[in-house]
Amino acid sequence: MDYHLFMSNVNLKDISMHLISIPAFQDNYIWLLTNGQDINVVVDPGEAGPVIDLLDKKSIAPSAILLTHHHNDHTGGVAALCERYPGIEVYGPQETQSKGATKIVKEGDKIDLASLSFQVIEVPGHTLGHVAYYCAPYLFCGDTLFSAGCGRIFEGTAKQMYESIEKLAALADDTIVCCAHEYTLSNLRFAHHILPEDSEIETYVKQIEQLRSEGQPSVPTTLEKEKKINLFLRCHQSDLQRKLGFNTTTMATWQVFERLRALKDSY
Ligand SMILES: [Zn+2]
Repeated sequence: MDYHLFMSNVNLKDISMHLISIPAFQDNYIWLLTNGQDINVVVDPGEAGPVIDLLDKKSIAPSAILLTHHHNDHTGGVAALCERYPGIEVYGPQETQSKGATKIVKEGDKIDLASLSFQVIEVPGHTLGHVAYYCAPYLFCGDTLFSAGCGRIFEGTAKQMYESIEKLAALADDTIVCCAHEYTLSNLRFAHHILPEDSEIETYVKQIEQLRSEGQPSVPTTLEKEKKINLFLRCHQSDLQRKLGFNTTTMATWQVFERLRALKDSY
């Protein structure tokens, strides 16, 4: 099992939490937030096998499952996990009820798991019911925000998606962004293609190329980093607007986002 442990020194309410990414399928990450004992939160288990392997190895059982949206690569392992760990609660938006969610969540809900509290943030766009979970400093954002990119707009509108990622961008700069896919390098190459003169992006491409060549994951990331290298969070900047052909006085920022997203879709 080639999983990665991060930030083992983050203390939440005096509990030492570990964040672990569990690779699944080609490029998915299932996240486990754990204190190594009774708090073991699994986010978006697209498949059960790698999760069960890891939990067995650590001799722990999941205390809850959180689902961000209905896609199978985020929910496909729910049934097998519920069979293996009977009675486990599965939190998710309405659209995940048919995928096994037992507790339906919506904007503003607080999920209290032992002494941790997860805030539910609705972020429609990739899917209409998509939610993110925020337990400072951790943000589990599914397919909304990726490192150097954002999710495709399958069900919502560009305006909705833009408002969703801006909602996430308003969280604290030290937020640890737990994305559900390893898309960073291709996102960065697109960003470098759009803004070749941006030295921060150019440097980060090289860093991530090195990291990936060593088999290391590029996530989690932080909001502070993303505000520098993620063009989808920089739609308000005039250099990017000009690059995309906008007269800076005539459009809404979400339209800049829409054009950038369309360019990425066909890149
Ligand atoms: Zn998805």
